[in-house]
Amino acid sequence: MVKLKLTRALRKKLKQGNPWVYKDAFQVIKGDSKGKPAFASMTDPKGEVCKGVYDPTSRLGFRALNFKSLSVEELKAELNRAYRIRKALRREKTNAYRLIAGEGDGFSGFICDVYGGIAVFQFDGEGMERFWLELPMADLVLNLDERIKTVVLKSRVNKNELKVLAGDELESHIIRFKENDVTFETDLVKAQKTGFFLDQRDNREYVKNLSEGKTVWNIFSYTGGFSVYAGVGGAKKVYSVDISEGAIEQSVVNWKINDLFEDGHEGLACDAFEFLKAEKKLKADVLIVDPPSMTSSRDSKGMAFKKYVNLFSDAARNVRRGGDLILSSCSSHISFEDFKEIASEALSQANKKGRVLRVSGQGLDHPYPHACEELRYLKFMHINLD
Ligand code: SAH
Repeated sequence: MVKLKLTRALRKKLKQGNPWVYKDAFQVIKGDSKGKPAFASMTDPKGEVCKGVYDPTSRLGFRALNFKSLSVEELKAELNRAYRIRKALRREKTNAYRLIAGEGDGFSGFICDVYGGIAVFQFDGEGMERFWLELPMADLVLNLDERIKTVVLKSRVNKNELKVLAGDELESHIIRFKENDVTFETDLVKAQKTGFFLDQRDNREYVKNLSEGKTVWNIFSYTGGFSVYAGVGGAKKVYSVDISEGAIEQSVVNWKINDLFEDGHEGLACDAFEFLKAEKKLKADVLIVDPPSMTSSRDSKGMAFKKYVNLFSDAARNVRRGGDLILSSCSSHISFEDFKEIASEALSQANKKGRVLRVSGQGLDHPYPHACEELRYLKFMHINLD
């Protein structure tokens, strides 16, 4: 086994469950993984701190794991725990959920989302893909729940590669699933990430419950998650805005398959930043803004801050008096504190004020280690404006 030694005092952090060590904070003292990711022991002067994956190809050179040996029994036990804590989600009305949320479940760099009978694997980079695919995870997931019939890899390394790893062949790469009794369809080949943004499930249900009789603008709609919920909740009219034509086409399909009144929804494929800036008077009853992550590294946080403020203030200007503004951010570099500050700045810039009715985040199938707030990445805030 490869042996590593910390060059910084990170024992406490690792012991608390924060799993990341960058490559400038440790040295390889024994073994050679020949340029490939490998199971490794992290040590310091007091002895072994933990085990994890050593990835010589990544700046994030070490990720702690809860495993002692990576035996099938250990993997199975950890997978069973991940499965058990999601019990509340697996009910008649919902059959899509994140089964493995990487670090949050002790499987660093490994995502597994379940859509009905299909489990989709996706990994955080080439090293993690290589590491996890060498272990029998696909068979373990297939045998976990009889409803899971196929396990596929949607590789981020080989873009658009969809490969069956275990179980039945895929009949179609267009699949349907249910979330809170709302039906969605996704094209696994064309879709972003694993297929759908499951982390907003609870927030969508919340939007559904405030949509009755309202005109709802869903900005950065992707395939219409919030839009369809608003429709099911009785919205008078719903608009989906996203730059991706494919996503907008899919939002129209998703609206239709829920038997909603066809004229009740319109999709617009355009740049939402420009759209909100150019429009000043949408007079939305409810306006949801859920942009893509606007930070790629810590260095650009100031820039991202500004972009969020400008975007959210343009959004606020398009809400009618007394209407509801719903802001969200999935950027892990923006904390909840930052987010509240951004919201306040954005409202002052738009010369508006209001009251906060809800602040929330990701659903229970997206857990994070308590010592790793960065993985509490999803922010959601509902503000009712004066
Ligand atoms: N709210 C969605 C998820 C949004 S993810 C849901 O609940 O499913 C962010 C979306 O922003 C993606 O669909 C992406 O296509 C879109 N996007 C990225 N840049 C954009 C831009 N400049 N204008 C409009 N949409 C953009």
